[in-house]
Amino acid sequence: MMLFKKYHAFALSIVWAQIACSSRFEDQKILSQSLRQTEFCSSGCLPVANSTKSFWIDSPNANPLATEGSGGTLTTDADVCIIGSGMTGVSTAHHLSELLERSSAPPLKAVIFEARDFCSGATGRNGGHLTPRAFLEFTTYAELYGEEEAMKSLTVEHHTASGIVDIIESHNLTVDLDLVEGGHITLFFTEESEREARMDYAAADAAGADLNDVEWMTQEQVSSKFGARYPGVKVPAHNLWPLKFVTGMYNITKLNSSKLSLHLHTRTPVTSMSPLESDPRDSLSRRWKLTTPRGSTSCTYVVHATNAYASHLLPQMRGDQGIVPTRGQIVAIRANASAEELTKASWSAEPGTEYWFPRPVNRTTEHPLVILGGGRHLTGPKRERYVTDDSALNPVISRALREYLPDVFPGKFDPDQEPEMEWSGIMGYTATGDPFVGPLGDGYGGQYVAAGFHGHGMPRAFACGEAVAQMIMSNLSGETWSPPDWLPRRYLTWEKT
Ligand SMILES: Cc1cc2nc3c(=O)[nH]c(=O)nc-3n(C[C@H](O)[C@H](O)[C@H](O)COP(=O)(O)OP(=O)(O)OC[C@H]3O[C@@H](n4cnc5c(N)ncnc54)[C@H](O)[C@@H]3O)c2cc1C
Repeated sequence: MMLFKKYHAFALSIVWAQIACSSRFEDQKILSQSLRQTEFCSSGCLPVANSTKSFWIDSPNANPLATEGSGGTLTTDADVCIIGSGMTGVSTAHHLSELLERSSAPPLKAVIFEARDFCSGATGRNGGHLTPRAFLEFTTYAELYGEEEAMKSLTVEHHTASGIVDIIESHNLTVDLDLVEGGHITLFFTEESEREARMDYAAADAAGADLNDVEWMTQEQVSSKFGARYPGVKVPAHNLWPLKFVTGMYNITKLNSSKLSLHLHTRTPVTSMSPLESDPRDSLSRRWKLTTPRGSTSCTYVVHATNAYASHLLPQMRGDQGIVPTRGQIVAIRANASAEELTKASWSAEPGTEYWFPRPVNRTTEHPLVILGGGRHLTGPKRERYVTDDSALNPVISRALREYLPDVFPGKFDPDQEPEMEWSGIMGYTATGDPFVGPLGDGYGGQYVAAGFHGHGMPRAFACGEAVAQMIMSNLSGETWSPPDWLPRRYLTWEKT
């Protein structure tokens, strides 16, 4: 889950101090690994081929759009070109369609380009948690950005979660998409982490956050109900099948939209962009040529929904102040206890380390498959930063994930049980933990980005796609876009220093 760097410079100095303190052999290993990856990614990386198989993507019939539009004729001309078919890209298309329906603007043509199979980036390889922030890290946000922005850190996530749940429920997709309202329990492994969480709670409460459904649990309560020996706190949350949600959102948009003609080209990476000579008097004059191995497409607007891979097309996103690809790893492992015993909740411990939830079952006596991610903190100071290869696994993390649940829930997981699946995926990390949302500015007229969601994109990416769709519609009609109340101002590209 998201690891928010409270004092980035301070954290970096710790990293370098740790490197300095480790043995000379380890130093060389870390630095040469770092160098290799920097060289590998020096011009930004595209997704690799042969990615590890994820439960969400590689279960039978899970990805009907996998190769959609990968053959046949390429769309050579579109009003809006969206690069990336994950949560952000498809949400942008969905919201463009919704906004168009309500406006007097002329119909638009949009095309989504996807380098690999449909939704095969982070959205198709994540932990499946939809946990809007209730109060954690409120104090840090308030200290850094003020109380109003701290509140917006909560509102953007609740806006996103309710938007996703609304789409699912209004189209009767709850069962198909495995949407479960199970809540989320954070376990505290140290007194310090519980103390900080209680401070966050008090600060959010004082600022007026809705905390009615928050439930604190003592070590004894957690132990007797769930079998883990730690205190915790439960907040409202869902878990779901993210790829199936994005597929549903794409289909709804494609089939229901009367004013957005939507096209999808999978297995079609955008490898470069170049400006076209456009007519400034014509708001829909084509401004950009996107090049792919299958030919090129002329576009008026371009949306970079490429998250970890944004820097391939946007050199300004390279390096620590841009979007840093960071590999996460997940196992799907069978529990040795019934679904009834494990309950439907999703879990995390020490925010930023491990996170897991049991998949829904047909009978409560069944032993569910548990999706568990984390373990990056055990991989040394780099923590899988600048790693873009999701065709491989880190053996240190593999070992840690196998040991984790038997350790936290003694008796409920078998230490010798091998995972049924194990995969990796690439997140987009930023220096502040916040995404970049908005126009790319000088020299990039008509281009927008919504990317850099860390390991906490499910309750943010959907809304950031919505914000970009609003910006495009405002630009098209010559109006000034006003940020919605729910969007943190610090996400906006023009607010970044
Ligand atoms: C292992 C892991 C676990 C996670 N767990 C959770 C969780 O439980 N809860 C949570 O909230 N968040 C989680 N996240 C984060 C969350 O999945 C992401 O923040 C979110 O899915 C980002 O969505 P996106 O659409 O912006 O990016 P992506 O889903 O990565 O989509 C970007 C797409 O762009 C494509 N692309 C890139 N470059 C190009 C190009 N040049 N041309 C064409 N296509 C291109 C990629 O192939 C990719 O499909 C996790 C992430 C990972 C990797």
